[in-house]
Amino acid sequence: MIGCWTGYANEANDRADGGTRMLYDTIVIGGGIAGLQAAIQLGRSLRRVLVIDKEAGRSVVAKNYRNILGFPDGVSGPELRKRGMQQAVKLGVELKQGEVVELVRDTDGIFVVTTADQSRYRARTLLAATGLTDAFPPVPGLTECLGESIFICPDCDGYEVRAQPTLVIGAGKELIHMSRRLCHYTRQQTLVVHGVPAVDGEQLIELEKTGFPWYCANVTAIDQRQGQLQAVELANGIRLQARKAFLANPGGSVNNELLQPFSVKILPSGHVLVDPRTKETSCRNIWAVGDLVAHSQMAAVAMGDGAQAAIWINKRLMEPSEVSPPPTE
Ligand SMILES: Cc1cc2nc3c(=O)[nH]c(=O)nc-3n(C[C@H](O)[C@H](O)[C@H](O)COP(=O)(O)OP(=O)(O)OC[C@H]3O[C@@H](n4cnc5c(N)ncnc54)[C@H](O)[C@@H]3O)c2cc1C
Repeated sequence: MIGCWTGYANEANDRADGGTRMLYDTIVIGGGIAGLQAAIQLGRSLRRVLVIDKEAGRSVVAKNYRNILGFPDGVSGPELRKRGMQQAVKLGVELKQGEVVELVRDTDGIFVVTTADQSRYRARTLLAATGLTDAFPPVPGLTECLGESIFICPDCDGYEVRAQPTLVIGAGKELIHMSRRLCHYTRQQTLVVHGVPAVDGEQLIELEKTGFPWYCANVTAIDQRQGQLQAVELANGIRLQARKAFLANPGGSVNNELLQPFSVKILPSGHVLVDPRTKETSCRNIWAVGDLVAHSQMAAVAMGDGAQAAIWINKRLMEPSEVSPPPTE
Protein backbone atom coordinates (compact mmCIF):
# COMPACT_ATOMS: atom_id res chain seq x y z
CA MET A 1 0.00 0.00 0.00
CA ILE A 2 1.31 3.38 -0.95
CA GLY A 3 -0.19 6.70 -0.06
CA CYS A 4 1.45 7.20 3.29
CA TRP A 5 3.64 10.15 2.35
CA THR A 6 1.44 12.64 4.16
CA GLY A 7 1.36 10.43 7.22
CA TYR A 8 5.12 10.28 7.38
CA ALA A 9 5.85 13.87 6.43
CA ASN A 10 7.59 15.94 9.03
CA GLU A 11 5.71 19.06 10.01
CA ALA A 12 8.62 21.17 8.81
CA ASN A 13 7.40 20.51 5.28
CA ASP A 14 4.07 22.11 5.89
CA ARG A 15 5.29 25.40 7.24
CA ALA A 16 3.80 28.55 5.82
CA ASP A 17 7.08 29.54 4.15
CA GLY A 18 7.02 26.32 2.15
CA GLY A 19 10.36 25.28 3.59
CA THR A 20 12.46 28.06 2.05
CA ARG A 21 14.18 28.99 5.33
CA MET A 22 15.36 25.46 5.98
CA LEU A 23 18.65 24.49 4.35
CA TYR A 24 18.82 20.74 3.81
CA ASP A 25 22.07 18.92 3.36
CA THR A 26 20.46 16.95 0.55
CA ILE A 27 17.18 16.96 -1.28
CA VAL A 28 16.36 13.63 -2.88
CA ILE A 29 14.08 13.98 -5.89
CA GLY A 30 12.22 10.72 -6.30
CA GLY A 31 11.39 8.46 -3.37
CA GLY A 32 11.47 5.14 -5.18
CA ILE A 33 13.90 2.34 -4.46
CA ALA A 34 17.10 4.28 -5.18
CA GLY A 35 15.98 7.52 -3.53
CA LEU A 36 14.75 5.86 -0.34
CA GLN A 37 17.88 3.75 0.04
CA ALA A 38 19.99 6.90 -0.35
CA ALA A 39 17.83 8.74 2.18
CA ILE A 40 18.24 5.93 4.72
CA GLN A 41 22.02 5.98 4.33
CA LEU A 42 22.11 9.78 4.58
CA GLY A 43 19.85 9.70 7.63
CA ARG A 44 22.31 7.30 9.25
CA SER A 45 25.04 9.79 8.38
CA LEU A 46 23.17 12.34 10.50
CA ARG A 47 22.31 14.46 7.47
CA ARG A 48 19.29 16.70 7.17
CA VAL A 49 17.44 15.16 4.24
CA LEU A 50 14.20 15.85 2.40
CA VAL A 51 12.74 13.34 -0.06
CA ILE A 52 10.17 14.68 -2.53
CA ASP A 53 8.14 12.13 -4.44
CA LYS A 54 5.10 12.26 -6.67
CA GLU A 55 4.07 8.65 -6.03
CA ALA A 56 4.50 7.37 -9.52
CA GLY A 57 7.29 5.31 -11.00
CA ARG A 58 8.18 1.72 -11.54
CA SER A 59 8.28 0.70 -7.90
CA VAL A 60 4.67 1.83 -7.58
CA VAL A 61 3.46 -0.50 -10.32
CA ALA A 62 5.72 -3.55 -9.83
CA LYS A 63 3.60 -6.14 -8.03
CA ASN A 64 6.41 -8.52 -7.12
CA TYR A 65 10.20 -8.44 -6.95
CA ARG A 66 11.40 -12.02 -6.65
CA ASN A 67 15.14 -11.47 -7.12
CA ILE A 68 15.93 -9.49 -3.97
CA LEU A 69 18.10 -10.88 -1.20
CA GLY A 70 16.02 -11.78 1.84
CA PHE A 71 12.67 -12.06 0.04
CA PRO A 72 12.54 -15.62 -1.36
CA ASP A 73 8.77 -15.33 -1.88
CA GLY A 74 9.06 -11.85 -3.36
CA VAL A 75 8.09 -8.41 -2.19
CA SER A 76 6.03 -5.81 -4.02
CA GLY A 77 7.37 -2.41 -4.98
CA PRO A 78 4.73 -0.60 -2.87
CA GLU A 79 5.58 -2.76 0.17
CA LEU A 80 9.29 -2.08 -0.21
CA ARG A 81 8.57 1.64 -0.55
CA LYS A 82 6.35 1.62 2.54
CA ARG A 83 9.07 -0.08 4.57
CA GLY A 84 11.68 2.29 3.15
CA MET A 85 9.63 5.34 4.10
CA GLN A 86 9.09 4.04 7.63
CA GLN A 87 12.79 3.32 8.02
CA ALA A 88 13.80 6.72 6.63
CA VAL A 89 11.41 8.65 8.87
CA LYS A 90 12.79 6.85 11.94
CA LEU A 91 16.18 8.30 11.00
CA GLY A 92 14.82 11.85 10.82
CA VAL A 93 14.41 12.01 7.04
CA GLU A 94 11.54 14.25 5.95
CA LEU A 95 9.18 13.18 3.20
CA LYS A 96 7.03 15.34 1.01
CA GLN A 97 4.51 14.14 -1.51
CA GLY A 98 4.64 16.32 -4.59
CA GLU A 99 6.11 16.83 -8.00
CA VAL A 100 9.33 18.75 -8.42
CA VAL A 101 8.82 21.11 -11.34
CA GLU A 102 11.95 23.23 -11.24
CA LEU A 103 15.55 23.09 -10.05
CA VAL A 104 17.79 26.13 -9.97
CA ARG A 105 21.08 26.96 -8.33
CA ASP A 106 21.39 30.35 -6.68
CA THR A 107 24.50 32.50 -6.69
CA ASP A 108 25.75 30.89 -3.46
CA GLY A 109 25.66 27.44 -5.05
CA ILE A 110 22.55 26.46 -3.10
CA PHE A 111 19.94 24.43 -4.98
CA VAL A 112 16.38 25.70 -4.90
CA VAL A 113 13.77 23.04 -5.59
CA THR A 114 10.24 24.09 -6.52
CA THR A 115 7.28 21.75 -6.34
CA ALA A 116 4.01 21.91 -8.25
CA ASP A 117 2.28 23.59 -5.29
CA GLN A 118 4.89 26.37 -5.56
CA SER A 119 6.65 25.41 -2.32
CA ARG A 120 10.39 25.96 -2.42
CA TYR A 121 13.10 24.00 -0.64
CA ARG A 122 16.84 24.67 -0.43
CA ALA A 123 19.71 22.23 -0.25
CA ARG A 124 23.47 22.05 -0.42
CA THR A 125 23.44 18.92 -2.58
CA LEU A 126 20.92 17.17 -4.82
CA LEU A 127 20.25 13.55 -5.52
CA ALA A 128 18.14 12.83 -8.61
CA ALA A 129 16.35 9.47 -8.46
CA THR A 130 13.45 10.10 -10.82
CA GLY A 131 13.65 6.78 -12.65
CA LEU A 132 12.09 6.18 -16.02
CA THR A 133 8.60 5.97 -17.47
CA ASP A 134 7.58 2.82 -19.32
CA ALA A 135 5.34 2.98 -22.36
CA PHE A 136 2.74 0.53 -21.10
CA PRO A 137 -0.18 0.10 -23.48
CA PRO A 138 -3.40 1.39 -21.89
CA VAL A 139 -5.13 -2.00 -21.84
CA PRO A 140 -7.70 -2.87 -19.17
CA GLY A 141 -6.40 -5.52 -16.81
CA LEU A 142 -2.72 -4.87 -17.46
CA THR A 143 -1.89 -2.91 -14.31
CA GLU A 144 -3.09 -5.71 -12.05
CA CYS A 145 -0.68 -8.18 -13.67
CA LEU A 146 2.50 -6.09 -13.91
CA GLY A 147 5.33 -7.92 -12.20
CA GLU A 148 2.98 -10.72 -11.13
CA SER A 149 2.22 -12.58 -14.35
CA ILE A 150 3.12 -10.00 -17.01
CA PHE A 151 6.77 -8.99 -16.99
CA ILE A 152 9.12 -6.58 -18.67
CA CYS A 153 12.65 -7.57 -17.68
CA PRO A 154 14.10 -11.00 -18.59
CA ASP A 155 16.96 -10.56 -16.11
CA CYS A 156 14.42 -10.04 -13.32
CA ASP A 157 11.69 -12.43 -14.37
CA GLY A 158 12.83 -14.71 -17.19
CA TYR A 159 12.94 -17.40 -14.51
CA GLU A 160 9.18 -17.03 -14.01
CA VAL A 161 8.45 -18.28 -17.53
CA ARG A 162 10.99 -21.09 -17.69
CA ALA A 163 9.75 -23.88 -19.99
CA GLN A 164 6.25 -22.38 -20.01
CA PRO A 165 3.99 -21.08 -22.78
CA THR A 166 4.54 -17.33 -22.88
CA LEU A 167 3.08 -14.46 -24.86
CA VAL A 168 5.54 -11.83 -25.99
CA ILE A 169 3.66 -8.60 -26.73
CA GLY A 170 5.27 -5.58 -28.32
CA ALA A 171 6.52 -4.09 -31.55
CA GLY A 172 9.59 -3.32 -33.61
CA LYS A 173 13.07 -4.50 -32.81
CA GLU A 174 12.18 -4.52 -29.11
CA LEU A 175 9.76 -7.41 -29.71
CA ILE A 176 12.28 -9.48 -31.66
CA HIS A 177 15.04 -8.76 -29.17
CA MET A 178 12.81 -9.76 -26.23
CA SER A 179 11.83 -12.99 -27.96
CA ARG A 180 15.49 -13.88 -28.54
CA ARG A 181 16.43 -13.17 -24.94
CA LEU A 182 13.53 -15.24 -23.63
CA CYS A 183 14.66 -18.24 -25.70
CA HIS A 184 17.13 -18.92 -22.89
CA TYR A 185 14.12 -19.54 -20.62
CA THR A 186 11.38 -20.83 -22.89
CA ARG A 187 10.93 -21.77 -26.52
CA GLN A 188 7.14 -21.96 -26.12
CA GLN A 189 6.50 -18.43 -27.29
CA THR A 190 3.65 -16.74 -29.13
CA LEU A 191 4.36 -13.25 -30.38
CA VAL A 192 1.74 -10.47 -30.57
CA VAL A 193 2.59 -7.37 -32.58
CA HIS A 194 0.74 -4.60 -30.78
CA GLY A 195 0.51 -0.93 -31.73
CA VAL A 196 1.28 -1.09 -35.43
CA PRO A 197 -1.33 -1.57 -38.17
CA ALA A 198 0.58 -4.21 -40.15
CA VAL A 199 3.97 -5.83 -40.51
CA ASP A 200 5.98 -6.08 -43.68
CA GLY A 201 9.53 -5.94 -44.99
CA GLU A 202 12.29 -6.42 -42.45
CA GLN A 203 9.90 -6.90 -39.50
CA LEU A 204 8.05 -9.68 -41.34
CA ILE A 205 11.34 -11.47 -42.09
CA GLU A 206 12.47 -11.12 -38.48
CA LEU A 207 9.15 -12.42 -37.15
CA GLU A 208 9.26 -15.43 -39.45
CA LYS A 209 12.84 -16.12 -38.42
CA THR A 210 11.82 -16.59 -34.79
CA GLY A 211 9.94 -19.74 -35.81
CA PHE A 212 7.19 -18.89 -33.31
CA PRO A 213 3.51 -18.32 -34.13
CA TRP A 214 2.67 -14.63 -34.26
CA TYR A 215 -0.33 -12.33 -34.56
CA CYS A 216 -0.51 -8.72 -35.62
CA ALA A 217 -3.45 -7.18 -33.75
CA ASN A 218 -3.76 -4.82 -30.82
CA VAL A 219 -4.38 -6.28 -27.40
CA THR A 220 -7.75 -4.86 -26.35
CA ALA A 221 -8.21 -6.49 -22.95
CA ILE A 222 -6.43 -8.67 -20.45
CA ASP A 223 -8.45 -11.25 -18.59
CA GLN A 224 -6.88 -11.72 -15.15
CA ARG A 225 -7.80 -13.06 -11.72
CA GLN A 226 -6.01 -11.32 -8.84
CA GLY A 227 -3.09 -10.43 -11.04
CA GLN A 228 -2.83 -13.87 -12.61
CA LEU A 229 -3.14 -13.69 -16.38
CA GLN A 230 -5.86 -15.90 -17.87
CA ALA A 231 -6.12 -14.75 -21.47
CA VAL A 232 -5.43 -11.88 -23.84
CA GLU A 233 -8.08 -10.55 -26.20
CA LEU A 234 -7.06 -9.18 -29.56
CA ALA A 235 -8.76 -6.58 -31.74
CA ASN A 236 -9.40 -9.22 -34.43
CA GLY A 237 -11.56 -11.20 -31.97
CA ILE A 238 -8.97 -13.86 -31.20
CA ARG A 239 -8.58 -14.84 -27.54
CA LEU A 240 -5.19 -16.25 -26.58
CA GLN A 241 -5.15 -18.32 -23.40
CA ALA A 242 -2.00 -17.60 -21.41
CA ARG A 243 -0.67 -17.61 -17.87
CA LYS A 244 2.49 -15.62 -18.49
CA ALA A 245 3.46 -12.76 -20.80
CA PHE A 246 6.29 -10.34 -21.43
CA LEU A 247 5.94 -6.81 -22.77
CA ALA A 248 8.42 -5.31 -25.20
CA ASN A 249 7.08 -1.90 -26.09
CA PRO A 250 9.22 0.82 -27.61
CA GLY A 251 8.76 4.37 -26.36
CA GLY A 252 9.77 4.44 -22.69
CA SER A 253 11.53 7.60 -21.54
CA VAL A 254 14.09 8.47 -18.90
CA ASN A 255 12.92 11.17 -16.47
CA ASN A 256 15.88 13.51 -16.95
CA GLU A 257 14.05 16.79 -17.70
CA LEU A 258 14.87 18.44 -14.38
CA LEU A 259 18.60 17.98 -14.94
CA GLN A 260 18.67 19.30 -18.48
CA PRO A 261 19.34 22.96 -17.52
CA PHE A 262 22.52 21.89 -15.70
CA SER A 263 25.83 20.77 -17.18
CA VAL A 264 24.84 17.14 -16.62
CA LYS A 265 25.92 14.77 -19.38
CA ILE A 266 22.98 12.86 -20.80
CA LEU A 267 23.46 9.87 -23.10
CA PRO A 268 21.52 9.53 -26.38
CA SER A 269 19.35 6.94 -24.58
CA GLY A 270 18.31 9.65 -22.11
CA HIS A 271 20.20 8.08 -19.22
CA VAL A 272 22.33 10.36 -17.07
CA LEU A 273 26.05 9.75 -17.09
CA VAL A 274 27.62 9.48 -13.64
CA ASP A 275 31.03 8.74 -12.19
CA PRO A 276 30.89 4.95 -11.70
CA ARG A 277 32.59 5.23 -8.31
CA THR A 278 30.67 8.10 -6.73
CA LYS A 279 27.44 8.36 -8.79
CA GLU A 280 28.02 12.11 -9.04
CA THR A 281 26.99 13.64 -12.35
CA SER A 282 29.24 15.88 -14.39
CA CYS A 283 27.66 18.82 -12.53
CA ARG A 284 29.27 19.20 -9.12
CA ASN A 285 27.02 18.44 -6.14
CA ILE A 286 24.33 16.75 -8.23
CA TRP A 287 24.18 12.98 -7.97
CA ALA A 288 21.99 10.60 -9.99
CA VAL A 289 21.01 7.03 -9.20
CA GLY A 290 18.72 4.16 -10.12
CA ASP A 291 16.90 3.76 -13.43
CA LEU A 292 17.73 7.36 -14.31
CA VAL A 293 21.31 6.21 -14.76
CA ALA A 294 22.54 3.99 -17.58
CA HIS A 295 21.69 0.34 -17.25
CA SER A 296 20.60 0.07 -13.66
CA GLN A 297 16.96 -0.90 -14.12
CA MET A 298 16.82 -3.41 -11.29
CA ALA A 299 15.72 -2.85 -7.72
CA ALA A 300 18.89 -4.25 -6.15
CA VAL A 301 21.08 -2.12 -8.42
CA ALA A 302 18.98 0.95 -7.57
CA MET A 303 19.55 0.27 -3.87
CA GLY A 304 23.29 -0.12 -4.44
CA ASP A 305 23.40 3.12 -6.41
CA GLY A 306 21.49 4.97 -3.70
CA ALA A 307 23.74 3.77 -0.89
CA GLN A 308 26.88 4.48 -2.88
CA ALA A 309 25.82 8.02 -3.81
CA ALA A 310 24.85 8.72 -0.20
CA ILE A 311 28.33 7.82 1.00
CA TRP A 312 29.92 10.22 -1.44
CA ILE A 313 27.41 12.97 -0.71
CA ASN A 314 28.28 12.64 2.96
CA LYS A 315 32.00 12.90 2.13
CA ARG A 316 31.36 16.05 0.08
CA LEU A 317 29.37 17.60 2.88
CA MET A 318 32.33 17.07 5.18
CA GLU A 319 34.37 19.44 2.99
CA PRO A 320 33.22 22.81 4.36
CA SER A 321 34.80 24.88 1.63
CA GLU A 322 33.06 22.92 -1.11
CA VAL A 323 29.46 23.68 -0.28
CA SER A 324 28.14 26.82 1.36
CA PRO A 325 27.68 26.22 5.07
CA PRO A 326 24.23 26.58 6.63
CA PRO A 327 23.32 30.16 7.54
CA THR A 328 23.52 30.99 11.23
CA GLU A 329 20.07 30.73 12.82
C1 LIG B 1 6.39 -4.14 -14.00
C2 LIG B 1 7.77 -4.05 -13.43
C3 LIG B 1 8.35 -5.15 -12.84
C4 LIG B 1 9.63 -5.09 -12.31
N1 LIG B 1 10.17 -6.19 -11.75
C5 LIG B 1 11.38 -6.13 -11.21
C6 LIG B 1 11.92 -7.27 -10.55
O1 LIG B 1 11.31 -8.33 -10.47
N2 LIG B 1 13.14 -7.15 -10.02
C7 LIG B 1 13.88 -6.00 -10.07
O2 LIG B 1 14.98 -5.96 -9.57
N3 LIG B 1 13.38 -4.90 -10.69
C8 LIG B 1 12.17 -4.94 -11.26
N4 LIG B 1 11.64 -3.83 -11.86
C9 LIG B 1 12.47 -2.62 -11.97
C10 LIG B 1 12.47 -1.81 -10.69
O3 LIG B 1 11.14 -1.48 -10.32
C11 LIG B 1 13.28 -0.55 -10.92
O4 LIG B 1 14.58 -0.90 -11.32
C12 LIG B 1 13.35 0.30 -9.67
O5 LIG B 1 12.06 0.74 -9.29
C13 LIG B 1 14.26 1.50 -9.90
O6 LIG B 1 14.23 2.34 -8.79
P1 LIG B 1 14.31 3.91 -8.98
O7 LIG B 1 14.29 4.46 -7.60
O8 LIG B 1 15.41 4.28 -9.88
O9 LIG B 1 12.99 4.31 -9.76
P2 LIG B 1 11.40 4.26 -9.24
O10 LIG B 1 11.29 3.16 -8.31
O11 LIG B 1 10.68 4.27 -10.51
O12 LIG B 1 11.30 5.60 -8.48
C14 LIG B 1 11.36 6.85 -9.13
C15 LIG B 1 10.57 7.82 -8.28
O13 LIG B 1 10.77 9.14 -8.78
C16 LIG B 1 9.57 9.85 -8.57
N5 LIG B 1 9.60 11.01 -9.46
C17 LIG B 1 9.86 11.05 -10.78
N6 LIG B 1 9.83 12.32 -11.23
C18 LIG B 1 9.55 13.10 -10.14
C19 LIG B 1 9.38 14.49 -9.95
N7 LIG B 1 9.52 15.38 -10.95
N8 LIG B 1 9.07 14.94 -8.72
C20 LIG B 1 8.93 14.09 -7.68
N9 LIG B 1 9.08 12.74 -7.80
C21 LIG B 1 9.40 12.27 -9.02
C22 LIG B 1 8.46 8.86 -8.85
O14 LIG B 1 7.30 9.20 -8.14
C23 LIG B 1 9.08 7.56 -8.33
O15 LIG B 1 8.63 7.26 -7.02
C24 LIG B 1 10.35 -3.86 -12.39
C25 LIG B 1 9.77 -2.74 -12.96
C26 LIG B 1 8.49 -2.82 -13.48
C27 LIG B 1 7.86 -1.60 -14.09
